[in-house]
Amino acid sequence: MSIIINGIPASPGVSVGKVFLYKENEIIINKNNIEDTELEKERLLNGRNISKEQLLAIREKTAKKLGEDKASIFDGHITLLEDEDLFDEVVELIEDEQITAENALEQGLAGYCEMLGCLEDPYLRERAADLKDIGKRWLFNITGTEILDLSNLPKDSVIITKDLTPSDTAQLDLDNVLAFVTEIGGKTAHSSIMARSLEIPAVVGTGEKYSEVKSGDSIIVDALEGVVILNPTEDEIKTYTLKREEFLAEKELLKQLKDKDAVSKDGKKVGAWANIGSPKDIDGVLKNGAQGIGLYRTEFLFMNNDCFPSEDEQFEAYKAVAEALEGKPVTIRTMDIGGDKSLPYMELPKEENPFLGWRALRVCLDRPEILKTQFRALLRASAFGYIKIMLPMIISLTEVRKSRALLKECMEELRNEGIAFDENIQLGIMVETPAVAFRASSFAKECDFFSIGTNDLTQYTLAVDRGNEKISNLYNSYNPAVLQAIKCAIDGAHSENISISMCGEFAGDENATAILFGMGLDAFSMSAISVPRIKRNIMSLDKTQCEALVEKVLSLATAEEVMEEIKNFNSSNYTK
Ligand code: PEP
Ligand code: MG
Repeated sequence: MSIIINGIPASPGVSVGKVFLYKENEIIINKNNIEDTELEKERLLNGRNISKEQLLAIREKTAKKLGEDKASIFDGHITLLEDEDLFDEVVELIEDEQITAENALEQGLAGYCEMLGCLEDPYLRERAADLKDIGKRWLFNITGTEILDLSNLPKDSVIITKDLTPSDTAQLDLDNVLAFVTEIGGKTAHSSIMARSLEIPAVVGTGEKYSEVKSGDSIIVDALEGVVILNPTEDEIKTYTLKREEFLAEKELLKQLKDKDAVSKDGKKVGAWANIGSPKDIDGVLKNGAQGIGLYRTEFLFMNNDCFPSEDEQFEAYKAVAEALEGKPVTIRTMDIGGDKSLPYMELPKEENPFLGWRALRVCLDRPEILKTQFRALLRASAFGYIKIMLPMIISLTEVRKSRALLKECMEELRNEGIAFDENIQLGIMVETPAVAFRASSFAKECDFFSIGTNDLTQYTLAVDRGNEKISNLYNSYNPAVLQAIKCAIDGAHSENISISMCGEFAGDENATAILFGMGLDAFSMSAISVPRIKRNIMSLDKTQCEALVEKVLSLATAEEVMEEIKNFNSSNYTK
C-alpha cells in the first residue's frame, strides 16, 4: 500500500521516480588501545591513497564541467592531503599512544586545524576549512564509511534528506535528479529558492517520516500540492504521470508570453524580472521572457568557492550576466552571507540567532576589504551592461552612507587606474526590515532604488523564523502587518520619486499579484519559472480595481480575512 506524506510545496512540478536517501553517514572512531601499530599505519596510508584517487576523479570531473581554473582547487587539496608533517605526526601518535589510525588522525587534524586557524595570514587560515573537509574524507576512507555524492546520482533520483544546504543544491547532478523532499525547511529557505531557479520540483518540511524507506523505492512528488507518495500503486503512477504532462503542457503554453510586456487591461505596465543565483541561471531568465534581473544573489559565488573569489573572478561572473542581458537592468546584490548561508572558508561565529546576527552588509562593513573587492568588480562589469548595485539587510542610513563612501573610493581608484565603469551606476537597498519599511521616505532620499525582500521582511515583521517548519503556519506575508509594511515602503519610495520592485518570493505568488499591483509596485522579480504566470495575471487586471482591493484589504484584521478577500477578487478576475 502506498504511503502519503504532506509537506510544503516549494518548487512547482510533478515527478515520478526512485528514492535516493541522502544522509551523511556517521564516522565511528574506535578509541580502544591497539597492539598492532603496523596495521594501523597501513590503514592510515591506505585511507590516504583512496582519498587521493577520489580527489583526482573529482578534479577531472570538475575540469570537464567547469574548466581547469576551478579544477585546480583540488590540486591544493591533494597537496594538503599529502602533507608529510601531518602524516608523520599522526604516525607518531599511533606509535606512542597505541591508538587506532582514525583516532590518531582525528587528533592530529584537530591540532593542525587549530594551528592554521590561529595564523595571521587569511589564506592560511582558510586552509583550515579545506583540511577539515579533506580530513573527513580521509576518516571516511580509513573507517570504510560510505561517502554519498550528490554530484553523481542514479537516473531519475528523487532525493530525500533532512535538509539540503544551498551548496548541496548547487552540486546536484542535474541530469539525474528529478525532485527533492526535505524533512525540514520552508518555502523561502535558500534550498527552496535554489530549487525554483533550477526548476527542480521540491516539497519541504515534511517532518521525519522516512525510517522505513530505502534508496531505490518508487516515489511520486507532487510539488504543486506538497504531497509525497511512497510506494505508489499503478493507478497513482498513471494519475500523476498525467498530472505531470498537464503541468508541462501549461508551461509550454505560457511560453507564448515570452516576448510580451506585463501590461494591465487599463494600460499600466510593470517590470517582470527574474532572480538568479549564478550566471548559470541566465538560460532560464531568457527562456521565460524576464525583462531584467531584479536580484542576483552573489553569495553563491562566494559559497561555491574554496576562498574569497578574487576581483577578476567576480568581474567575469558579473560581466557575463550584464552582457547576456544586453542592456536590460541587472540588479546585483552584495554578498549576503550569514543566516542560513555559511562560508566554509570564513569562520562565522556560532550564534544563538544567526538571522539577527552578523550577516550580510554587517559582515561587509566590518570587513571593508571584502566589500571593496566586490564593488570594484561590479564597477568594472558595469562598463558591459546595465548594472545596479543593491545592499542587503539595511537597518540604518549610516550603513548606506558608509557603503556609498566605499563605492566612491572604488570609483576614484578606477578613474586613477584608467579603468572604464558606469559613472551613473545606481546604488539601491533592499527593504527587508521594519526599520527601513516604516521610514522608507527618509531612506529614499539617499538611495537610487528600493527592492522589497519579503522573505526577510515577513520574518522580521512577524518575528517568525522563515526556515522553521514548526511555525510555517505563522509565516504569512498576507498578515496585515506585512502588507502595511510593504505599502509603507512603496509609498515612501514614490514620495521621493524612486522606483521600487519586489524580489522576495511574495512577488512570484500568483495570488498576491493584484494586491501588489494595486499598491503601485513598479516591478516584480521572482524565480524565472514564475515570470510567465505573473505576466499573465497582470494582463487580466485593471489597476483601478486593484487599488480598490488594496483599500479594502488594509482595513481587514487578520491574514485569513485578507486571503479570503483576495481569493474572491482573484476568482472573478482570472480566467485560466
Ligand atoms: C528576501 O529576503 O526577500 C530576499 C530576496 O533575500 P534572501 O531571500 O536572499 O534573504
Ligand atoms: Mg533577504
